[in-house]
Amino acid sequence: MKILIVGGGIAGLRAALTASRFAEVSVLTKGKIGETATEKAQGGIAAAIDQIKDSTEYHFEDTLVAGAGLCDERAVRVLVEEGVDRVRELIEMGAQFDRAETEAGGGFALALEGAHKHRRILHAGDSTGLEIEKTLAGRVMAEKKVKIFQQTVSLDFLMENGRAAGVIALDLNSDTFKTFPADAVILATGGVCQIYLYTTNPLFATGDGVAMAYRAGCVLTDMEFVQFHPTSLVHSKEFEDLIALPQFLISEAVRGEGGRLLNQKGERFVPELAPRDVVSRAIFDEMRKEKTDHVFLSLSSLDAEQIINRFPLIYKTCRERGLDITRDPIPVAPAAHYFMGGIKTDIEAKTNIPGIFAAGECASTGVHGANRLASNSLLEGLVFGHRAALAAKSQKTNNNSQTIQKFKDPKPKLKPNEIQRYKLIIKTAMWNGTGIIRSKESLTSVLHKLEMIEKDLSFDPNSAEEIEVKNMLLVARLITRAALDREESRGAHYRSDFPLPDDLNWKRHLVYKVSR
Ligand SMILES: Cc1cc2nc3c(=O)[nH]c(=O)nc-3n(C[C@H](O)[C@H](O)[C@H](O)COP(=O)(O)OP(=O)(O)OC[C@H]3O[C@@H](n4cnc5c(N)ncnc54)[C@H](O)[C@@H]3O)c2cc1C
Repeated sequence: MKILIVGGGIAGLRAALTASRFAEVSVLTKGKIGETATEKAQGGIAAAIDQIKDSTEYHFEDTLVAGAGLCDERAVRVLVEEGVDRVRELIEMGAQFDRAETEAGGGFALALEGAHKHRRILHAGDSTGLEIEKTLAGRVMAEKKVKIFQQTVSLDFLMENGRAAGVIALDLNSDTFKTFPADAVILATGGVCQIYLYTTNPLFATGDGVAMAYRAGCVLTDMEFVQFHPTSLVHSKEFEDLIALPQFLISEAVRGEGGRLLNQKGERFVPELAPRDVVSRAIFDEMRKEKTDHVFLSLSSLDAEQIINRFPLIYKTCRERGLDITRDPIPVAPAAHYFMGGIKTDIEAKTNIPGIFAAGECASTGVHGANRLASNSLLEGLVFGHRAALAAKSQKTNNNSQTIQKFKDPKPKLKPNEIQRYKLIIKTAMWNGTGIIRSKESLTSVLHKLEMIEKDLSFDPNSAEEIEVKNMLLVARLITRAALDREESRGAHYRSDFPLPDDLNWKRHLVYKVSR
């Protein structure tokens, strides 16, 4: 059988390793292999591998508390229990996590992050994701069983009799549209947060998988829940040319090790390890009160050697931007970071459409509820990537799709500067109106702006950028619609006009499906 995986991050590569045991597997990636959000992850991966002070039960409880009443308990149980085995497999494959001298934690140096009651974050300095991506990609390459198609942008599903039969994609190497027939497709396309002006997400994170799934008839859920990370590095004036790039993240682990958030007067104003939505809103309020674009993260309680050893990437990156974090407080502000919503799946990673599976950040398995517990997303990709591959095994079909190759029209409809302008309109509208604090007024205004540009973009896309801007628009509209529909505040979704949770009416999931 043929299994096609769209995405080469933790979810896609883990799925590929499992699926290649019983199927012919191909992986498509939008950029080069390894250019993923996975590779950017700093803080670590959560797993209760310390069986002395920690347990999967504690991890389960912390995940449910963070999820603010909307986690699917069965999915969380799978995450925390199978997560321990999947992380051990990763270590067996060669992933090098930092070690400690103690017996507890199986000899690993486990870190603490916001809303975790126990130390359970495995990390590789502050480049944990890179270590994981290298390990998984290294294993995929060494096994030589998986075909990888880099710089191949998946556009839409090929559908046959109501089920997926592969995808159509744009091969950027040859400028051709190609079909990739398959018995099952696993979407592992990562996040959507490039729809926001300020984001930690890589440039490719334009929600392509979520948009493709929606167009194919998949149910989407929890679209209103976007996590804003409290601490991304604010560019100083001299580095304004970096503004178009993703914000550099200052990992939560920095606060876990004793970093303090300070306002312009040098005062603390929020418990640093409170859930991310609480810290992000407190920073946002403080910035509004003080009329500045940042607060400070001070590491003055840590000694210089500790900072350099524990956070080498953060130290080096800040140094390149003129900051010595062993001395200087870091200017930080919130940025859109993680999407809890997405393609609705069951605990086998199956969607409602036969032949389509989803795993990782593009999927909504129910493990995060209204707010993700820090370091649970890498774990989700690992656990549900594996599960998606196992579930896809039962999908053998009489696939009739032919491989087709067609040169693309050399003239895209939009000029590069027009695409950038549309992207900027979407990103700015989303940041201002569907951001950390929302209201009926702000959300209605965003919907109005998005509808206006929808008319301009109603054509078949003919370049990767045209595909992206159309997908961004669709995902932005669905997120804004859901945020308008949910008339309460819960987890990462905060409405200034409905500032409290309302369990009676809203302790439930909203779902969206294309109307045919
Ligand atoms: C800066 C940063 C730090 C983070 N730190 C942590 C952390 O410490 N711990 C933690 O648990 N989580 C962290 N996260 C979140 C976590 O990294 C992601 O949620 C996770 O890596 C997502 O994995 P994934 O496999 O779903 O997607 P990704 O790793 O993002 O991979 C997506 C893949 O899909 C491909 N793709 C996308 N669209 C298309 C298309 N149209 N056609 C073909 N291919 C496509 C991309 O090319 C890429 O290969 C962090 C995120 C960021 C941005």
